[in-house]
Amino acid sequence: MKFAKAFGWFPVPVFRSVPAGGFKGYTRILTLMVIPLAWIKLHPDYWDDEHLLEHELQHVEDYFRHPWFYWLRYKTPEGRLHYEARAYARQYASYGEKNFVRFNQFVDLICERYGLNFDRSFVFFILEKEVEKYISMMPNSK
Ligand SMILES: [Zn+2]
Repeated sequence: MKFAKAFGWFPVPVFRSVPAGGFKGYTRILTLMVIPLAWIKLHPDYWDDEHLLEHELQHVEDYFRHPWFYWLRYKTPEGRLHYEARAYARQYASYGEKNFVRFNQFVDLICERYGLNFDRSFVFFILEKEVEKYISMMPNSK
């Protein structure tokens, strides 16, 4: 077990275990009474994948911002697309370089792994919008 930092400081437990559904990483959320809890599972093969961890931390942070809203919205296809695009955009941006192949891999993953039924071109567009946000937030962006 190790800790990752949500919002740059909040400790989130990360467990080395094989997530269900063939995922490399997984964020579990739970609202205990009114207390939002979250922890991350990383597949042993991706234990040191800091980019995947950034993806999961985005889910944790989005959840902590609006726990009930996140929980309800993630159940809808539109919500899943929204949150996954945010998470994949952060993962993509964490590499700090443009990579069209990687970008397209992430579009494919969003299309294939989350029970969504959107046009690929639409998913491409949504991820592009989220990536633009992240790149422009980087201190060295033009
Ligand atoms: Zn995700």
